[in-house]
Amino acid sequence: NGKGLIVSFGEMLIDFVPTVSGVSLAEAPGFLKAPGGAPANVAIAVTRLGGKAAFVGKLGDDEFGHMLAGILRDNGVSTRGINFDQGARTALAFVTLKADGEREFMFYRNPSADMLLRPDELNLELIKSAKVFHYGSISLIVEPCRSAHMKAMEAAKDAGALLSYDPNLRLPLWPSEDEAREQILSIWDKADVIKVSDVELVFLTKNDKIDDASAMSLWHPNLKLLLVTLGENGCRYYTKNFHGSVDAFHVKAVDTTGAGDSFVGALLTKIVDDQSIIEDEARLKEVLTFANACGAITTTKKGAIPALPTETEVLSLVRG
Ligand code: ADP
Repeated sequence: NGKGLIVSFGEMLIDFVPTVSGVSLAEAPGFLKAPGGAPANVAIAVTRLGGKAAFVGKLGDDEFGHMLAGILRDNGVSTRGINFDQGARTALAFVTLKADGEREFMFYRNPSADMLLRPDELNLELIKSAKVFHYGSISLIVEPCRSAHMKAMEAAKDAGALLSYDPNLRLPLWPSEDEAREQILSIWDKADVIKVSDVELVFLTKNDKIDDASAMSLWHPNLKLLLVTLGENGCRYYTKNFHGSVDAFHVKAVDTTGAGDSFVGALLTKIVDDQSIIEDEARLKEVLTFANACGAITTTKKGAIPALPTETEVLSLVRG
């Protein structure tokens, strides 16, 4: 169960999260310093569930960068694929928690170290040993990390890895909406598994309706599994042969940060050693129920990484 290596590629940063909802960070009485970054969250989601994960990306050679690498190590994630940039600083995000638990971000990216990963710095031996290669988020936006992203993705694919993509749209980081849409869709057909949120579905299709027809419009012939996550409404799944939905669990959400990453980490942990699950609707629904529970638990605590559950916690929610 989950023993093949899952390599997660991209950024890791620190989220400054206010201690109360409904006000900006500047107005909050206090804040938490929460490690995050979607690909790093996914890697830790995997190890917390008992799987094997490595993170590939670049951090600043500063106190935040070394703190983040330490957090990965403490969580059992391999850091052999991390580079430290001697000039640029580690990325930071300043979060606002809205009253409903949703969050808004402002970034320090000037540029930050994560954007400066170069293709020649990649640990290709590690990347080629991945059974699943997961990516998404900011690494497509600028060079040189865009080229590093492409090279890593191709190397993993050539070595036989299942490619998993979560666009993790962060619009303020892109020069324009059109460029974001174009770049995200430009690597669409490389992926075997894609997870989008309802917001991303609307953005990518330019269609306000969240239904099967709009999800199907994002289907491509090489795809094995498309997932649309719907927050408190669970998720929908699409494969070559069937599609359907899986309900969410009822929980009291206090901070949804990391729910999608937790969902993805759970899914990948379950399919890494048995990809035939994707072709078997009953087993896929069971795995997605587990992933929904994982996402739900993650919303019940502040921050992303501190809220990622263990398998025991997830099973106790699934079994009621
Ligand atoms: P993202 O973080 O990418 O926007 P979602 O917010 O849709 O993704 O969350 C991913 C999954 O986590 C959902 O499919 C759902 O199963 C679970 N989840 C998220 N928010 C809630 C919530 N408020 N209540 C219960 N489950 C939730």
